[in-house]
Amino acid sequence: MYEVNSIDALEVLDSRGNPTVQVTVTTPVSIGKASVPSGASTGKREALELRDDGERYRGKGVLTAVENIEEQIAPMLIGYDVRDQVGIDKTMLELDGTEDKSSLGANSILAVSLAVSKAAAAAVDLPLYVYLGRPNDVKLPVPFLNVINGGEHAGNDLDIQEHMIAPVGASNFSEALRMGVEVYHALGALLKDRYGPVATNVGDEGGYAPPIDDPIEPFELILEAIDQLGYTGEVKIAVDTAASEFYTDGLYSFGGKELESSEMVDFYEMLIGKYPIVSLEDPLAEDDWSGFKEITTRIGEDVQIVGDDIFVSNPTIIERGISEGVCNAVLLKVNQIGSLSEALDAASLAMSSGYGIMVSHRSGETTDDFIADLSVALSCGQIKSGAPCRGERTVKYNRLLEIEKELGAFSSYGLSKST
Ligand code: PGA
Ligand code: ZN
Repeated sequence: MYEVNSIDALEVLDSRGNPTVQVTVTTPVSIGKASVPSGASTGKREALELRDDGERYRGKGVLTAVENIEEQIAPMLIGYDVRDQVGIDKTMLELDGTEDKSSLGANSILAVSLAVSKAAAAAVDLPLYVYLGRPNDVKLPVPFLNVINGGEHAGNDLDIQEHMIAPVGASNFSEALRMGVEVYHALGALLKDRYGPVATNVGDEGGYAPPIDDPIEPFELILEAIDQLGYTGEVKIAVDTAASEFYTDGLYSFGGKELESSEMVDFYEMLIGKYPIVSLEDPLAEDDWSGFKEITTRIGEDVQIVGDDIFVSNPTIIERGISEGVCNAVLLKVNQIGSLSEALDAASLAMSSGYGIMVSHRSGETTDDFIADLSVALSCGQIKSGAPCRGERTVKYNRLLEIEKELGAFSSYGLSKST
C-alpha cells in the first residue's frame, strides 16, 4: 500500500523561465508531486544543481537530471516504502556517492525526496505539515515579505538584495499577511509618487525595484509606509544583504565605496540603531568568517544574524558555525543541501543549539508550496517567500492561510522562543 509504484520526472519552467525538475511519485493509494527551486545569489558550497550546458535553454536545461531520475534513481527506489524518508534519501546519496551531489544532481535528488514525502503524507491521509512535524507544538510563521529588491534580483543599483518587512506584532498569521500587504501597497504608492510608475516594477522576488542607489533610502521609504498605516512597532524590518555578491579580495564594494569587514559592521550597527531591524541575513560574505564572528559578537544580542550562503543549509558547516559562535540563526533552503532528511537534520541541529531557523524560498521558484508546510512542521516561527506578489510567491502565503484555517485555535503565531 505504501510502496513506490512509479517515479516520473519532467523538465518544467521556474518563475524566471529557467528549466527545473518536477517529479511525481505514486504509490497504490497516493500521488506526491514536487518541484525544485533555484537561486541566483548562490553560496559556493551549495549542493550542485545539474544543468545540461550546450545550446538548449542557454545551457540551463535539466534533461540530464530528468534522465538520472528515470534511469538511475527510479529503478533503485521502486518498491521502497514511501514512509522510509531517511532510507530513501540515504539510498539516493549512496547512489550519487559525492559530497556535493554532483553525480546525480541535487535537483534530481531533492525533487524525488520532496515528492516521496508528499506521497507518504497523502498515503497516511495527513496534511504535509502534520506528517513532517510536531502536531503538539504548532506555530504559524512570521512572514518576512521582501518589498524592495536589489542586488542580483533586480535591474537597479541597490547593493542590498532584500529589504523585508516582518509583521511581528500581529496576533495571527492572516492578520500579519494583511498588514504586510497593506504596507507593500502603501510603499508602492509612495514610490510611484516620488519616482514615477517605473519605480513599481518588480524584481525576481516580487518586491519593487526602484531606480535608487543610496543604501539608506529603502529603509526610509519602508518606515514611512509602516508609519503611514499606524503599524509603527508592529511591523519591523529585516534585511538580506547577500554580501558575497559584492565582496572581492577582502573588500566590500558597497554604496559606492570599498569597505573593510569592520566598516560593514559599523554600517549595520548604525542601521539597527536608526531603524526597527530585527534580522540581518548574510550581512557579510560567505568566506568572511572572522567578519561574521565580529558582527555576531558586536550586535548578535540585539538582532538576529542569519547565515545563508555561509551555511548553505549544510549540517557540517552549521556545526562549525555553532562552535565558533557565528550567527544565531540559519536560513533553511532545501535545495542548498539537496535532500529533505538532511535539511531536517540541519534544522534539528540549529534548534538544539538555540539557533533560530527561517525557512526560505529561492529567487527562481515554482508554484510548489512545500516550504509553507515545512515551516509549520518545524514550528520555527519564520518564513520568507518574497513579496506578496507573483503567483509563485503568494502560493506559499496562501497555503499558510489554509493551514491556519485548518488548525483553528490549535496553533499560535509568531517568532519562536529562540529568536
Ligand atoms: P537566491 O536568493 O535564491 O538567489 O540565492 C535568496 C537569498 O539569498 O536568500
Ligand atoms: Zn540570502
